[in-house]
Amino acid sequence: MGKILIKNAMLFDGSGAPRFGGFVLIDGARIAMVGRGAPVPAPADVEVLDAGGATLIPGLVDGHTHLGFGATIHQMAKPAERTDAETALLLAHCGRVLLGSGFTSAYSGGSTSPLAEIAARNAFDAGWVAGPRLRTSSFERTPGGAMGLTTRFPGSAARASAPADAVDFVKEMAALGVDSVKFLLNGVSAFDPGSNLRDQFHDEEILAGAAAAREAGLSLTAHCYTPHSIQLAVRSGFRVVYHCNYADSASLDALESRKSEMFIGPAPGIVEADLLRGPKFGIMASPPQREEQAEAAERIKNVGKEIRRRGLRAVPGGDYGFPWNPVGRNARDLTLFVEWFGYTPAETLVAATRIGGELMGRGHELGQIRDGYLADLVLVRGDPTSDITLLEDHQNLLAIIKDGRVHKAPAAAGAAG
Ligand SMILES: [Zn+2]
Repeated sequence: MGKILIKNAMLFDGSGAPRFGGFVLIDGARIAMVGRGAPVPAPADVEVLDAGGATLIPGLVDGHTHLGFGATIHQMAKPAERTDAETALLLAHCGRVLLGSGFTSAYSGGSTSPLAEIAARNAFDAGWVAGPRLRTSSFERTPGGAMGLTTRFPGSAARASAPADAVDFVKEMAALGVDSVKFLLNGVSAFDPGSNLRDQFHDEEILAGAAAAREAGLSLTAHCYTPHSIQLAVRSGFRVVYHCNYADSASLDALESRKSEMFIGPAPGIVEADLLRGPKFGIMASPPQREEQAEAAERIKNVGKEIRRRGLRAVPGGDYGFPWNPVGRNARDLTLFVEWFGYTPAETLVAATRIGGELMGRGHELGQIRDGYLADLVLVRGDPTSDITLLEDHQNLLAIIKDGRVHKAPAAAGAAG
């Protein structure tokens, strides 16, 4: 890793300020200098990349992805009955596809093999496997056990509360070394019809698990649809809440009361994918399920608008990794922030970069183009601050740089893929 000068670029620095013409000097893994206009003549040991007026943005952050589920735009592996060895290979494959989609960071929404995810994180960081920075996750916990994709969601109604089980789970995950612990506070209708609106845990189980996570220094991620679950997640000190389709004004107030500590992943991508492609895969295929999902779509459109109006921190990331919603389509979520939630393209880019850096726990060094920040950068043909859909076409991603390493270079300079 040496020095790279990117000149003749339009910079969108992630702060929310308008684009400006300028240059970026990378030294090793970090941005050494950001400037306006033309750079002073570069010293001989600097590799020069002429952006040709393309837009340079901070590397994108996906706030809710499942690299271990294994499906990408290049292959549709089904998640069921897989060995940890296969999961490890799929993680490496998915990491490469995600990085090639312009996402230099990802927040795991739940793992089918935490140890494999940790190994992938370490390999991506070391740079000998191409992949994004990764905040790893535990298994996804339901009351019945860790979640495989065929797990039933037994719900809390007919079940005795077992707070000690939640505590044991958190301790086991902490011992493995994950970064975050995921609880499914509601079910998943795609796998257990109607369960999106069913509480899966007794409140005291979540409160006990959350306390154990705090003690272990792990952050908490919640899968929530109902107002009750959202309120419980806020009350228990969860850092990230996903979905929130059925949030009401009281639960939105609760989120707003902790908006400087929490993040929301409204995940519009999975709702659209369930509607458009789910039935081909046997997902949400029956008429009542179609109806439920159509309502979930309408609900999240309203919630997304409220998130924006209230200034809550939301990060794009639509539950990518399922065969009908594969890794590689992740930029679709940015388009849906604009089309469904009323974000401007620039606001959406801020959500996916600066706020994404904060979600990764590294807002002081990640998610913006600033002196001293990590050199995670994407060069985009055209102006994504006026047309966000440009990011969905990988051919518009002219260069992708992570940690100062060029993962994809403009074709003329010889591409790394
Ligand atoms: Zn998910």
